[in-house]
Amino acid sequence: MPANGRFRVAVIGGGISGLAAAYRLAKARAAGQPLEEHLFEAQTRLGGVIHTDQADGCLIEAGPDSFLSEKPQAFELARELGLAGDVVGSDDARRHTYILHRGKLATLPDGLMFLVPTRLLPMLTTPLVPFAEKVGMLRELFRKPQAVGDESVAGFVERHFGRAMVENIADPLLAGVYGGSADELSIRATLPRFADMEQREGSLIRAVLKARRKMRRVPRGPLALFSTLENGLAQFTRAIEQRLEPSRVHCGAGVAGIRVAPAGGHGRPGYDLVCHGGLQAGFDALILALPAHESARLLSSRDPELAAPLAQIPYSSSMTVAVGYHHRVRRMLPPGFGFLVPRREGPRLLACTFVHAKFPSRVPPDRALLRCFLGGSRDEAILNLDDEQAARLVLEELRQILGLSEEPLFVRVYRWRRSMAQYAVGHLDRVAAIHQRLRHHPGTFLAGNWESGIGISDCIRSGQTAASNCLRYLAET
Ligand SMILES: Cc1cc2nc3c(=O)[nH]c(=O)nc-3n(C[C@H](O)[C@H](O)[C@H](O)COP(=O)(O)OP(=O)(O)OC[C@H]3O[C@@H](n4cnc5c(N)ncnc54)[C@H](O)[C@@H]3O)c2cc1C
Repeated sequence: MPANGRFRVAVIGGGISGLAAAYRLAKARAAGQPLEEHLFEAQTRLGGVIHTDQADGCLIEAGPDSFLSEKPQAFELARELGLAGDVVGSDDARRHTYILHRGKLATLPDGLMFLVPTRLLPMLTTPLVPFAEKVGMLRELFRKPQAVGDESVAGFVERHFGRAMVENIADPLLAGVYGGSADELSIRATLPRFADMEQREGSLIRAVLKARRKMRRVPRGPLALFSTLENGLAQFTRAIEQRLEPSRVHCGAGVAGIRVAPAGGHGRPGYDLVCHGGLQAGFDALILALPAHESARLLSSRDPELAAPLAQIPYSSSMTVAVGYHHRVRRMLPPGFGFLVPRREGPRLLACTFVHAKFPSRVPPDRALLRCFLGGSRDEAILNLDDEQAARLVLEELRQILGLSEEPLFVRVYRWRRSMAQYAVGHLDRVAAIHQRLRHHPGTFLAGNWESGIGISDCIRSGQTAASNCLRYLAET
């Protein structure tokens, strides 16, 4: 037991990973555990890339806009925070997504389970895949189970469905979700379910159809594909912040360095944080809930062998641009959630969501809202445009793609530098090496979107796991 009778834990990073960790510690404290949780955040607000904004009556998600309903952690956390009644689903009745193909919007074929076609007719009629590759897809049904090592998503999809599926479907989907490229992302780390299916069944189409038949036998509630919170994802941030002790939430307190102090009274090392704004001394444990490159920087002098694999995890940058219009624009758009743009089509836009269609309650009836996504691993340079240049570029590309020449009512530009971990080929080995090396540092725990998934639910799980491991360590101390 430490001198003042309470363990002091520092959580560094106030994005959703760090908030989930701090909240788990706060719950343990409320349940009687002798500890103080402190949260250190470099910016003046919490939430990290979760940032909900408002303009002209519209609710704008500057970063993530929703979470996948099939992963439970975000919904569970919302329930615990008393926000279950605020969870809203996407309006899936209108769920069409388009892909820009030879300058025109083509519908993403119905029945596509992320990358795997499961319905014949839409695949036969889609212009996105040439005839020879359609015939090849029928052959895919007869593939034998096969165990291969890690490879790129592009290599994997090409082996099963041909190059057009990579360029016209897989790559734009991955760019829209991960800001990444199918040629670089690892199939085992990004889409492990499909790698396992290949190993078990050989044919992905057969495996997906089988899994779907099984799922139909399990009665489920009417789950939308995407869920979010009625007043924006920042509701998570606010609700967690309210449950933390205000004097221990340190915003504008970026951690510049960590000093390891000699073993304290309980025989374990202590930690001091060199923060912008002064030294914060005397912590018994640390949770670094940061982008991997930032954890690498803070750990490099202490253990280069731990910092090296962290520093090797690439991150992409992105920009979102929200454009608000008069409601008549709704009638000028095709029905659906939005569109994706394959790289070779030319525009710098990667994706565009028709927010008023996906989450109708976020946009008043007299407005239309488009949210554009740009940047990613192939176009970091776009972040150098100033707001005016970015707005001009986006409006011009919307004009080319949608024929939209209406004057917008507002444009908002948001930049997210080095914020999305890229699970490149070999990622799982790097993460295993990090966890292995971390065993040499009792009292230090890591979380973040590089660890076990980049989605909001994955980050919540990562933060909660780090906090649980930390509580176990303190209990053993
Ligand atoms: C534009 C965009 C759209 C996305 N869309 C979706 C989506 O729709 N659905 C989904 O599930 N996921 C989405 N994601 C992914 C998901 O939102 C992120 O992976 C997740 O929110 C990351 O949370 P985090 O806490 O790990 O990291 P971050 O949110 O990056 O938080 C890290 C925090 O650490 C702070 N920090 C950094 N260095 C220091 C330091 N030295 N000291 C103190 N603090 C420091 C930062 O200021 C930041 O607040 C999106 C991501 C982006 C960028």
